[in-house]
Amino acid sequence: MGGVSDTLGANFVTTKLDRLVNWSRRSSLWPMTFGLACCAIEMIGTTMPRHDLARFGMEAFRSSPRQADLMIVSGRVSQKMAPVLRQIYDQMTEPKWVISMGACASSGGVFNNYALVQGVDQIVPVDIYVPGCPPRPEMLIDGIMLLHERILSGDYTAKRVADEPLDAVSAGV
Ligand code: SF4
Repeated sequence: MGGVSDTLGANFVTTKLDRLVNWSRRSSLWPMTFGLACCAIEMIGTTMPRHDLARFGMEAFRSSPRQADLMIVSGRVSQKMAPVLRQIYDQMTEPKWVISMGACASSGGVFNNYALVQGVDQIVPVDIYVPGCPPRPEMLIDGIMLLHERILSGDYTAKRVADEPLDAVSAGV
């Protein structure tokens, strides 16, 4: 019959607390319910049974920014929408992340005109850019997987300070 130490060795896993916390955050990202244009249709498709975002603990899109820690900017951002988007971002609690989904959100896409923001990173710090017009659900999931790796590695906190854009938009440009 084995002693106490034999039993403990078979039933315990040791890890760092930081890694455990980051693993929990990665495994339960809750996106903000937030769609701006055609890319949003693909984002919605990502949650449907075929692609099943619930596999990654992410099926719970939240209507309140207080309960969300991921903003997926899916579509072009109009100048009028910019202050609203920034306000929603500010209302989300830290730690939080942003995925820029599609060419319009990342760079204005084909809409190089006065009405649209030429890249949402002028308003909020972006963690992951997903290219495409629109990106397919698989591409969005790939971006989410990259974000998961970043969260697990814990490198996001230092980057957040460096990436914070000017507060021009939150002041109501
Ligand atoms: S990137 Fe393409 S699909 Fe997405 S919002 Fe722009 S025009 Fe629409």
